[in-house]
Amino acid sequence: MQIDIEAERKEILHRYKLLIKACKRRLEKGDQEIIRKAFGVAVESHKEMRRKSGEPYIYHPIAVAQICAEEIGLGRVGIVCALLHDTVEDTDLTLDDIKGLFGEKVAQIIDGLTKISGVIDNTSSIQAENFRKVLLTMSEDIRVILIKLADRLHNMRTLEHMKRDKQIKIASETLFLYAPLAHRLGLNTIKTELENLGLKYTDTEAYNEIGTKLSESEPERKKFIQKFIEPLKDILAEQGLKFKIFGRAKSIYGIYNKMKTKRVSFEEIYDLFAIRIVIDSPHDQEKSDCWKVYSIITDFYHPSPERLRDWISTPKSNGYESLHTTVMGPSGKWVEVQIRTTRMDDLAENGYAAHWKYKDSAADKESKLESWLLKIKEMLENPDPNALEFIDDFKLNLFSDEMFVFTPKGDMKTMPVNATALDFAFEIHTKVGEHCIGAKVNHKLVPLSHELSSGDQVEILTSTKQSPKDDWLSFVITAKAKSKIKNSLKDQRKKIAEEGKDIVQRKFERQKLEFTNKNINAFCSFLKLNSSQELYYRAALGNVELKEIKEFVKHQENPIKKKKKTETANIEQLVTTARGNTDMLVIGDDLQKLDYKLAPCCNPIPGDDVFGFITVGEGIKIHRVNCPNAIKLLSNYAYRVVNAKWVNDQLISFLAGVKIIGTDELGIVNNITKVISNENNINMRSINFDTHDGLFEGTIMIFVHDTKHLNHLITNLKKVKGVTKVERIDEKH
Ligand code: MN
Repeated sequence: MQIDIEAERKEILHRYKLLIKACKRRLEKGDQEIIRKAFGVAVESHKEMRRKSGEPYIYHPIAVAQICAEEIGLGRVGIVCALLHDTVEDTDLTLDDIKGLFGEKVAQIIDGLTKISGVIDNTSSIQAENFRKVLLTMSEDIRVILIKLADRLHNMRTLEHMKRDKQIKIASETLFLYAPLAHRLGLNTIKTELENLGLKYTDTEAYNEIGTKLSESEPERKKFIQKFIEPLKDILAEQGLKFKIFGRAKSIYGIYNKMKTKRVSFEEIYDLFAIRIVIDSPHDQEKSDCWKVYSIITDFYHPSPERLRDWISTPKSNGYESLHTTVMGPSGKWVEVQIRTTRMDDLAENGYAAHWKYKDSAADKESKLESWLLKIKEMLENPDPNALEFIDDFKLNLFSDEMFVFTPKGDMKTMPVNATALDFAFEIHTKVGEHCIGAKVNHKLVPLSHELSSGDQVEILTSTKQSPKDDWLSFVITAKAKSKIKNSLKDQRKKIAEEGKDIVQRKFERQKLEFTNKNINAFCSFLKLNSSQELYYRAALGNVELKEIKEFVKHQENPIKKKKKTETANIEQLVTTARGNTDMLVIGDDLQKLDYKLAPCCNPIPGDDVFGFITVGEGIKIHRVNCPNAIKLLSNYAYRVVNAKWVNDQLISFLAGVKIIGTDELGIVNNITKVISNENNINMRSINFDTHDGLFEGTIMIFVHDTKHLNHLITNLKKVKGVTKVERIDEKH
């Protein structure tokens, strides 16, 4: 390909001008010169580099800076850092150079960005540990994660140029960590785009299908909204309210998620969209104006008593403010109505980016963000050896809905929904949690495990005699309580283990066995224990017997050779030892033919989009990309994921499941089995039919060759009289 250097130079300058235009109104005197300088440094240091698409590399940092300016609302320092974000990582420029050129603060942020930049390409360490790093760095300066989000967004927008396995890894990681983070920071627009792009690459088919259906059903939605709005318009105007009213469709990912978790089809989702009313209201009248609108709407449409959410009086901890209600719409359909002011709408969509516009409430938001970051810091300072577990706990809190609970003095605490009295105790103070024996909720005595509801007033009862117990972990849900309890249990075990050490030593001496590290470790592995601490702990509980030591001594003198266990499999090993015995699938970057097993959680069949996952004991397992476990596997163990692709269509059969739903017509079972037996080469493995109240439900496990074969069958099953729905199911039931 011929490269026109002059045209590229012009394009680079053009893009730079657009960037300056985007951030101009927020720049102060002298800012533009510094940005210009950063731009010059970035252009110079990336000048020989190109992106996978063949474009000059500098397009990427400019685009990231553009997102930072336009969609996140960062100022001078943020833009400078965005332009330079890949320099230390990818070019000869050092952190000291940056410090010399742009000062301490910029260097600190670039350092943070460099530390977390290796998340994807790092093939040797566990992803979870990297995630921890992301969070840790984030709690130092929020701009690190904001720039990182912009970086990720641009990489997702240009993901089509990457190889398929990279696409899957990056997209999964985006869904697993970055989209929830964007959500937590109130960056709704960015979150939605990250999720939709994430889905596009992890389940392309579903993404396309939902997208098509969404645009096909748009005229109908428009009509409905028109009808809904009609009677309201005049009355709202009469009240002197300036307002915008429109429909907001759920995002493709939002719909996908609902279809998966609720196991419903696109057509069955009743809340495909919400009606949003945005009013112009002076700051001191916001609340009363919103409730005025509420009252007008509910004069026309009957509200559902359980579905009223007031996030205006008590905003969510990511700053979200809005009034939500669900009303019975014109055609007998429930529809959600969101009422908010222009300011609230702006903050909800753009979060941090909108801060600078609304000075007075920004301070308030800032402090909430600060306290959230402080919480993260606290959690990170308690290093948990099991980083993966930590991420799970943390994510739980990222996603959960919130409620408000009060102390006896009336202080409000934000807690995740389903939090228990014990969670609340740990929220107040670690010591209160550790000594908690019960609680009074609204003056009534309840156990530790009691689940709280929004609005509860909770008094915690403590006793110095109390200490954390193993089973506490089964009913706390906040990351804070979990990590504190785990730490305390660990300390307890340690103390007990110290007593056990003496016991083991005495027993060793009685058998004339030297009490050395070597002997202790050998004894541990003889008993299949992980550590000497575990051994001592067992000894303290009286579970190490003399007999075991005697056997160990005998074994030491006369060891039976044991086969060496391979603890971790690596790709090279598998390549050389497990030469393939089948031609169906090729695996790895060089597309080798290897041995594999099909994962039972998603039953992949030829034609499915799949990947290989290197397991510890069972070689390579093949999963579907849209397997329920896939996102977790892909993002936590990216280094164990290998490319896999179906090659030819030998007539080998694979097990697949199909669920059929319909009305209980006469002869329906007969007709269904007829369709299956008429299909070529299909063998039924099991069939299960159930009817109740005139409804019919069937599950069939069949052997098919590939997805084409399966889809053909599904199409024919749908034609059977009485059948309303046929779908492929993931798991055997
Ligand atoms: Mn980058």
